[in-house]
Amino acid sequence: ESSNSRKLKKVHADAAQLYHHILINTQIGEEALSYLHERGLNDDIINEFNLGYAPEKAILTAFFKERKVAGELLRKSGLFVEYSDGTMNDRFRNRVLFPIRDAQGSTIAFSGRLLHKDDKQPKYLNSPETELFNKRKVLFNFDKAKSEIRQKKFAILFEGFMDVLAAYRSGVKNGIASMGTSLTNEQIYLLERTTNELFLCYDGDEAGQNAIARALELLEPVTKLKLGVIRIPEKLDPDEYVQKYGETAFEQLISDAHETKIAFYMRHYQQNRNLANESDQLAYIADVMQKLAVIESPVEQDLYLNQLASRFSLEKDSLKLQLREYIGKFK
Ligand code: ATP
Ligand code: MN
Ligand code: MN
Ligand code: MN
Repeated sequence: ESSNSRKLKKVHADAAQLYHHILINTQIGEEALSYLHERGLNDDIINEFNLGYAPEKAILTAFFKERKVAGELLRKSGLFVEYSDGTMNDRFRNRVLFPIRDAQGSTIAFSGRLLHKDDKQPKYLNSPETELFNKRKVLFNFDKAKSEIRQKKFAILFEGFMDVLAAYRSGVKNGIASMGTSLTNEQIYLLERTTNELFLCYDGDEAGQNAIARALELLEPVTKLKLGVIRIPEKLDPDEYVQKYGETAFEQLISDAHETKIAFYMRHYQQNRNLANESDQLAYIADVMQKLAVIESPVEQDLYLNQLASRFSLEKDSLKLQLREYIGKFK
């Protein structure tokens, strides 16, 4: 490890500690602290994840100046914005901060959430890419989750940091999230070295469900991970589900609501279709059959063919015949 990255990690550790202190112990952190409490995070979780608050008024610039930290190092940290006249200012202001840690547990970046919705600013703001932080390589919470992922033999991918934390406080500690993008090859590789099964647990709204379909299409050809879906009912975010029904109910949902890829597609392809209508039925069956065509296991194939046959009162033999054509085309 270069001495530069060691120094940058120290800057991040100090910044995280300061932001955390402000959240927990000071009056300027009070509003942010009650915001987090209202979202169901207690002090144990806040401490364990070292959550912080960056106040409206810049503090970090003076903090490091006082400690005589070199301007060059601060510039490289990504924690500051630099104006054209060369003066620097804190990048994160009036945001709740989630420290982003690497797989070894060192803080290498932050993501900050606005306390109040604001049309002019993005809800979440991440550190820019730095020597330490490459968002394509990081999975939020992977350092804490990895041993649990090994033990449970699967990982759960959430959309948001708040979802990971909501799961964590419910005892579901094998949850991770990307940095707001789809999984990269680097992240997939990290997971493949740790487990052989990945569940996608995205927001229950239409955007989240469409994102699952996209993620599955993207992952299928490039990973040997077994893929599944955990569906959150009522269009809720996982975090909202915990808030509404409690931690025990969420833990239960995670162990009960596993869906196979095909079961997900069979549900998903019904969206925006009227299955009382025959042309919609045919289009739906065609979509599902394309997915069945690439299944390796004949038993699994059979299971879903039976479901289709009985649902639409079709001969299974004609479905099988049709499937053979798709196998030629899609396999
Ligand atoms: P919250 O519950 O705090 O409102 P969320 O996690 O439900 O947040 P979503 O809008 O569902 O937020 O977005 C999911 C994830 O995508 C976020 O956790 C964040 O990582 C990322 N994200 C969302 N908005 C932005 C943004 N403007 N810039 C960068 N990343 C973002
Ligand atoms: Mn969403
Ligand atoms: Mn949410
Ligand atoms: Mn969300």
